[in-house]
Amino acid sequence: MIDCHFHLDESLVNADGLVASMDAHGISRTAVIAPLCPDIEKRLILTLAGPLLRRALISGSATFRKAVVRFYGNLVKPGGQVDVGGKRYPIIPQPDNEAVARAVAARPDRLWGWIFVNPAGPADPATTVSRFAREPGMIGVKAHPFWHAYPTDMLREAAEAARRHSMPMLVHLGPGAHGDFAMLAASFKEVPFVFAHAGVPYPDEVCAKARKKDNVYVDLSAASYVDRNIARKALALAGAEKCLFGSDGPYFHHHHGRYDYSERLALLDSLDLSSGDRERVTETNFMDILSSRQA
Ligand SMILES: [Zn+2]
Repeated sequence: MIDCHFHLDESLVNADGLVASMDAHGISRTAVIAPLCPDIEKRLILTLAGPLLRRALISGSATFRKAVVRFYGNLVKPGGQVDVGGKRYPIIPQPDNEAVARAVAARPDRLWGWIFVNPAGPADPATTVSRFAREPGMIGVKAHPFWHAYPTDMLREAAEAARRHSMPMLVHLGPGAHGDFAMLAASFKEVPFVFAHAGVPYPDEVCAKARKKDNVYVDLSAASYVDRNIARKALALAGAEKCLFGSDGPYFHHHHGRYDYSERLALLDSLDLSSGDRERVTETNFMDILSSRQA
């Protein structure tokens, strides 16, 4: 099994702790990402904002949905902060790819790494991708146009770099101009795009696009965003061949330096997937995405 989405926040779960957690839960590989916020405690998202957002996205009227997506968009504050249940956390302008590359190089048999880019930050995305694409096990490009507060249009240079290096991109979309997934997919047809958390905040639209477009996928990560209802809808709309298993760990379920995969594995079990579909979601879809790199 492959976890395609995990943040290597060493203050919560370090690389050894992650590998031990993977061993305990039968995860063979994890693709790790540098964290965007130091020491974020997302419990309030899980108990308040998450359920509201999921409810609006799955069953809300268009008006309710719009209002909740606007509320969600307002959680990112000017000056690079995110509001988590009334507490504000600084967003790191350029997440630390060096630490990820080091961890991946130390555990090449178990870890892969995403290269974090921020076109609104201090480091040039194309230079960042070229620099880290040389490192073993760095397999793709991660971008967060929502928390880093830039329009997806600014990702063109990063997407072009991903195309040059035959890498997929993992993108956490935001509302409005921060969420133009269709432009990315249409402009960079050779780049496989994995939209995080079932395509939040536009899961229906992104999953419908995934069904039609070869280069669009979604991950089913994060307890706050993807519950059983959202995951089932993503599978129905996108198809099992377009959904990837992921955790968004260590957030929500870390204890004493370990990440507890039980919640995400229980979610997976609750989806009634055929063994073929389960294998697609947990392994072969991601391997297919990466195989274009070697080809
Ligand atoms: Zn994440």
